[in-house]
Amino acid sequence: MCIGPPPSSQSYLLGDRLIEVAQRTGAQAIHPGYGFLSERAWFARAVREAGLVFVGPPAEAIEAMGSKTDARQLAIRAGVPVVPGTTEALRDADEAMAIAESFGFPVLLKAAAGGGGKGMRVVRERHELAAALGSAQREAKNAFGDDAVYIEKYLDGPRHVEIQVLADMHGTVLHLGERECSLQRRHQKMVEEAPSPAVSPALRARMGETAVAAARAAGYVNAGTCEFLLDRDGSFYFLEMNTRIQVEHPVTELVMGLDLVQWQLRIAAGERLPFEQKSFEPRGWAIECRITSEDPGNGFLPSTGRITHLHLPSGPGVRWDGGIEDGSEVGLHYDPMLAKLIVHAPTRALAIARMERALRELVIDGVETSRGFHLRLLAHPDVRSGDISIQWLEAHLAELTSAPPHEETVRLAAIAAALAAQHDRGLTSDTAHAARRDGTLEGWRAVARREGLRT
Ligand code: ADP
Repeated sequence: MCIGPPPSSQSYLLGDRLIEVAQRTGAQAIHPGYGFLSERAWFARAVREAGLVFVGPPAEAIEAMGSKTDARQLAIRAGVPVVPGTTEALRDADEAMAIAESFGFPVLLKAAAGGGGKGMRVVRERHELAAALGSAQREAKNAFGDDAVYIEKYLDGPRHVEIQVLADMHGTVLHLGERECSLQRRHQKMVEEAPSPAVSPALRARMGETAVAAARAAGYVNAGTCEFLLDRDGSFYFLEMNTRIQVEHPVTELVMGLDLVQWQLRIAAGERLPFEQKSFEPRGWAIECRITSEDPGNGFLPSTGRITHLHLPSGPGVRWDGGIEDGSEVGLHYDPMLAKLIVHAPTRALAIARMERALRELVIDGVETSRGFHLRLLAHPDVRSGDISIQWLEAHLAELTSAPPHEETVRLAAIAAALAAQHDRGLTSDTAHAARRDGTLEGWRAVARREGLRT
């Protein structure tokens, strides 16, 4: 069903139209996905009032967790530890200064209605605070129509570890362990894994119980995620609850061996969760890379165009959750995420190896993508050893984006260049064969250079 033209304000964000289409087609329920209206309480309410099932939590639970300040208050009442900071919007810069000084710089200004890293400002020095508050408020007003901004202590070097929760309508609330999402750029996740290299079974149980307590306090039903910052000393702090399925849910599905979206539908249909908490033990390791149409070599500028050739990786333990095919147009109307590449293997080292193999197999021609960046990221010793924090990726960005191309890429490029040249200029096939045969990186570089290819 075409629900409107590409701009989301004329299509995916029009709740009434979505409901009308659902009714016209005889659908019984609406699954809101993870963007657009998925965390809008008014939409959940409108769906129910139209006599349809909303595949998600009750509108009241979305509201309870919708504002970060309300969620912090709720967490505190439920005995869940939160990052030091306020639970009310700041009145002015003077108040912000007094609070910032009480727990010390750096601090983080955050939009109460925030999401997607918008309306957030790290403030390291006193003199930057007033201007940062003004710009965070303006950005929040623009993005969310609400300029409420509050303040948190900015933690240096923690991990982002989140807990998947599943709750049915009959009072059972379970957690499905953690996802490690520390590899972020601009507070946005790029790579996620399950389990986390920093979480022991005992810590998993403690964080899981805390997430279940927060979900219970909100009257939560269906799939949701409690996000935490995990400090180096093992203490953890509640950040917020995402009241929807998340982009990174497949890593949990793979290590827990269950289909979360299917359970969302079954819960929405009134089924009981037939599991016991102790049955959820992670098996093996799963990693997800978000494949975006951005150019990492050029400040992650969004790249647009037509997909002229797509070759997907396959084989055991490889999963592709994609939204593109040969000929797809990639425009600027939506998020740059084209697909998610997910792997599952018995150990973390094998999962990394499998992801590298799958990334090398993947071909997306026509737009720039994050594929090569992911390969460099996974080659880094800190990522391989799991020694990462939420600040790690930004701190290594220059090194990761200016690194020479992967050896395999150079080799393939040299062969391609030699074959192309042979075809165009009647080059002797010896050069092409030499490129194939020559095992050294320098040899491949030389062939590539000879054929006018920048290495
Ligand atoms: P959003 O809803 O905009 O995604 P979150 O509150 O979930 O905002 O935070 C996004 C990311 O910002 C976190 O994953 C973390 O990396 C970083 N962050 C949030 N709060 C803090 C904090 N107090 N100290 C340090 N980093 C933080």
